Amino acid sequence: MPWYKQLHWQIIIGLVLGLIYGVVAAAQGWGDFTNDWIGPFGTIFLRLLMLIAVPLVLASLITGVASLSDIQKLSRIGGKTIGIYLATTFIALVLGLVIVNVMKPGETVPQDVRERLEQTYSNEAAARQEAAEQTQDRGPLQAFVDMVPGNFFASASSNRNMLQIVFFSIFIGIGLILLPEEKGRPLLSLFESLNDVIIKLVDLIMYTAPIGVFALLANTIASMGGEGGVFELLRALGFYCIAVVIGLMIQTFLTYPALLKSFTPVRIVDFFKGIAPAQLVAFSSSSSGATLPVTMECAEENVGVSEEVSSFVLPLGATINMDGTGLYQAIAAVFIAQTVGMDLALSAQLTIVFTALLASIGTAAVPGAGIIMLVIILEAVGVPSAGIALILGVDRILDMLRTVTNVTGDITVATIVASSEGQLQIPTSANTPVQA
Ligand code: ASP
Repeated sequence: MPWYKQLHWQIIIGLVLGLIYGVVAAAQGWGDFTNDWIGPFGTIFLRLLMLIAVPLVLASLITGVASLSDIQKLSRIGGKTIGIYLATTFIALVLGLVIVNVMKPGETVPQDVRERLEQTYSNEAAARQEAAEQTQDRGPLQAFVDMVPGNFFASASSNRNMLQIVFFSIFIGIGLILLPEEKGRPLLSLFESLNDVIIKLVDLIMYTAPIGVFALLANTIASMGGEGGVFELLRALGFYCIAVVIGLMIQTFLTYPALLKSFTPVRIVDFFKGIAPAQLVAFSSSSSGATLPVTMECAEENVGVSEEVSSFVLPLGATINMDGTGLYQAIAAVFIAQTVGMDLALSAQLTIVFTALLASIGTAAVPGAGIIMLVIILEAVGVPSAGIALILGVDRILDMLRTVTNVTGDITVATIVASSEGQLQIPTSANTPVQA
């Protein structure tokens, strides 16, 4: 097949054109036109993905768990998954701290720029602080309480409740395991069939991905330009952005390949070719939750992770595993402290690791969630949380990048778990990414 007919190239073309259009539109003041006539196509693409996320998790997880056939296996895979997720997030956090301490990006921000940023973004910063306060006021076990839904329809009504859907699906799956085969068969067949339909729908939606990605990027970049000099901001905060980008690149292109090389037989080139559609959608949407259907399809069809493993590991990962977000939070926290002239002792930096590890579990898989959790981390180490005003202006761009790392981390862990369970079947034509 010629390269331009391959989906991942078409998405890349959409992405590049979207970037170019966005920059031109920002310079020419086409923000309103773009918002009215181009943005909606991106929104429709995202909504379609979000629309199928809940039924997809429900159907694939129920059939996945039911096919595990014994509960011991389920708890073994569960323990392994959570353990590896915590380990990769820990690596990301330590990496972030090392980079920010070596590069010291906060020491290069001139006083006048700092004051201007604090003034411009003080209102937005206050809104994020308020959102963080609501999360903070909860008891220590609230995160576990939140996982258990009181009503299935209420939890299925919002994609933010993905963890509740995961809980419900595993619960139903366990019920099916415990039931004699012929009793559970009708319900299982229903979910198997629903699963097949949803997989077809993902294929259909992915046909439109090049346009969706173009529209999403065009609109995001055009509106950033309208907000007043994001490009100027990028220059002022350049060193900070470079620190985050270096960290994300190391995590994505060194840490994950090293783990894959050590624990799985996959070829790194094939792995990255296979997951490219998921990375591109993650970059354009800034939401690992919305990207989930693409993440699952890439992991299963292109990397060879069994459905049993992917349907369990990936929805869980999309909600609790955020390596890119953790890395960014570690850098941002120390950057803000450096900018306001605070020296963070080792104990404070360890507190960052601990709080960020917990925060990444509670961070919603939607755009901009990471910066709200950053407020909590800042408060834990005594850095003024109004300091997020310093970095708000460039947060959207970094959000796009960290979401790519988040999604790559999820697929890496799914591949490792699948390999350790003998459930990795590398496709023979591993270099053919998801074909719609
Ligand atoms: N946008 C990120 C995600 O969905 C979360 C964040 O860091 O804001 O993975």
